[in-house]
This record gives sequence, C-alpha cells and structure tokens, in this order.
Amino acid sequence: MAKRTASKVPPPSRELRSLAGAVLDRLTSRYREVNTALDYDDAWQLLVATVLSAQTTDANVNSVVPALFERYPNPEDLAAADPEEVEKIIYSTGYYRAKTRNIISLAQDLDRRFDGQVPRDLDALITLPGVGRKTASVVLAEVWGDPAIAVDTHVKRVSNRLGLTRSSDPKKIEFELKALYPQQEWAGISMRMIQFGRDVCNARTPRCWDCPLGDLCRYEDKTERPD
Ligand code: SF4
Repeated sequence: MAKRTASKVPPPSRELRSLAGAVLDRLTSRYREVNTALDYDDAWQLLVATVLSAQTTDANVNSVVPALFERYPNPEDLAAADPEEVEKIIYSTGYYRAKTRNIISLAQDLDRRFDGQVPRDLDALITLPGVGRKTASVVLAEVWGDPAIAVDTHVKRVSNRLGLTRSSDPKKIEFELKALYPQQEWAGISMRMIQFGRDVCNARTPRCWDCPLGDLCRYEDKTERPD
C-alpha cells in the first residue's frame, strides 16, 4: 500500500469539525487580536528573529535584535559578518554559536540566491538554512497575512490534548489542522493556540481548572486547582 503523505490527510469527521469550530470560537473570544511578540520591521528581520527564538523567550530575542540589525541592517551585511562579533551580540539567546552559524548562512544564501529578498513562498523559504516549515509559516502569516499554520511546540501540545490530532509529526498536524479550518482562519488558529499554550495549556502544569476549553478537551490527565 502506498504510504500516505502528510499533505493527504483523510477528510475530518463531522464531530472533529464541530470540535475544531468550538475551539476556534472560544480562542477567538479569549484572544481577539493575535500577533507575534517578536519585534521586527520587515520580513528579513522577522526571519532572523524567529530563527533566534528557538529555545528562548521572545523578550530575550527582542533585547538583542536592535543591536544586531543596527550593526547588520540587511542580508548582505550579515553575510560578511565576523562570527565572533555576532556571537557576542546574540549570546544571551542561548545556543549562540549554532544560531550565529545559522543566521550568517541564512544571510549568505538569501544574498546569493534571492538577491537579498525574503521569498514569499513556503517551498522557497524552507530551502534556506535553519528555516523550517514553522519559521516559514510565521513569516508568511505575520508579514504578508498569507494563509499558513505554524506548528510549534505549543500548537503540537494543545491540538493533541484537545483531540484535534493524534500525531506528533508537526507537518502532519499542520495538514490536519488545514483540513479542519478554512484558509482565512489558518494564521489565527495557530497564533491563538501558541498564546493559549503559553497562558493556560502549558506543558508541565496546564491550568485545566481555569480553562475555557475544559468541557471540550479530551486530555485525560487534567489538573485540579492547587490548594
Ligand atoms: S483542559 Fe487542560 S489540557 Fe485541556 S486544553 Fe484546557 S488546559 Fe489544556
């Protein structure tokens, strides 16, 4: 039998669609406006900031990017950077050596293959060093408002606990969520799940006792209000 690809997920059941709709309604009531907490002026800056945001907080990234972009305003500048200088600037974001390598390679590749312009295309974006589907989707949705679902650790956890997916594969989750929601909701549902995963349904101690989705949620280990 041919292996099913992530983009060919079976059509969701009526029950699952109904759950997905209720989740969207409630998350939209809770979070009217959603935007990334990363500071940026353009696609290039958001791309770099999103790469730097791995394993750290957005606030941490926001504290280093002004100095980074003042010193290296565009891909051409960063492509020619001294790695040690970049490491010093981004040190506090953690994994600074690997991140320095990634953002310099990213700048070089952008400069060489895309004339320094961030491509508005997921398939092209994910050919850039250090850029996966999640980062590409964040940039497409945030900068251009394009339909894209960024599946990060929060979206993966929240969608599994709610019972919207049973997969641990981010790409499969992305396509399952895409099958559940109309395109105009794609960016919004992932941004809202990210915020909800930070505020309520966090990894270690989800606030199930205080959760607006509690009656919809299929998670079996719901937590109780601490004494
Ligand atoms: S009930 Fe608990 S596990 Fe379910 S969505 Fe809410 S916080 Fe997450």
